[in-house]
Amino acid sequence: MALPRSIRDLSDRFSSLPGVGPKLSNRIALYLSISNRKLASRLEDSLKDVTEKIRLCNNCFNVTDNEDLCEICDNSERDSSTILVVETPLELYSIEETGEYKGLYHVLHGIISPVNGIGPDEIKINELINRLQNNSEIEEIIFGLNPNLEGDSTSLYITNEVKDLDLDVKTTRLAKGIPTGSSIEYMSSQTLSDSLRRRDGVE
Ligand SMILES: [Zn+2]
Repeated sequence: MALPRSIRDLSDRFSSLPGVGPKLSNRIALYLSISNRKLASRLEDSLKDVTEKIRLCNNCFNVTDNEDLCEICDNSERDSSTILVVETPLELYSIEETGEYKGLYHVLHGIISPVNGIGPDEIKINELINRLQNNSEIEEIIFGLNPNLEGDSTSLYITNEVKDLDLDVKTTRLAKGIPTGSSIEYMSSQTLSDSLRRRDGVE
C-alpha cells in the first residue's frame, strides 16, 4: 500500500530539491503532514514570502528584496572598480562573510558546462560584458568560481571575451590555495581571505 496521494505529491516535490532522496522526502512529507503542522503552515508563509518578494538585482543578479539594486550595488562605499564573479549567491555570501572584499559582484547563475548543455548564453555572461562596456570605472574582474574544469573554462571564456573588448581591465582568480575539486561555499573564511589577497592572473 502506498502513502496517501497528497503526502506522495508533497514528497515528490521535496525529492526534486538538491540533495534530497526519496526516503528523506517521504520522511519530511510525513513529518509535516502529521507531526508538525505548525511548521507546515510557517513554511507555507515563508514560501509565499520568498516567491513574492525575492528578485534578482538589476546590476549584479544577486538575490534581493529591494526594487532595483541589491544592498551591495546600492552601497556607495563599495569599490566599484572590481567585480568578483561567482556562480551562485551562495559563494557571494561566503566571500562577504570574510569581510575581506569591498568591491562589487556578478552572479552568473550557472557555469559553462557542455555535458549539461549549458553554454555561455544560458548564464549571465552577456550581462557582465554589458557592465564592462557601460562602466569605465571597472579595472579588475576576479573569478571566484569553484576550482574545477567547468570553473576554469568559464573563467577562460570570459577572460577571452574581456580581451576582445580591448578595455583596460585585468582578470584574476582566487589563488591556487583552494584545493582542486573543492567548493568555495564550504571553505573557511581564513582560506578564502588568503586566496583573495594572493589572487593570480588568468592566462
Ligand atoms: Zn547587485
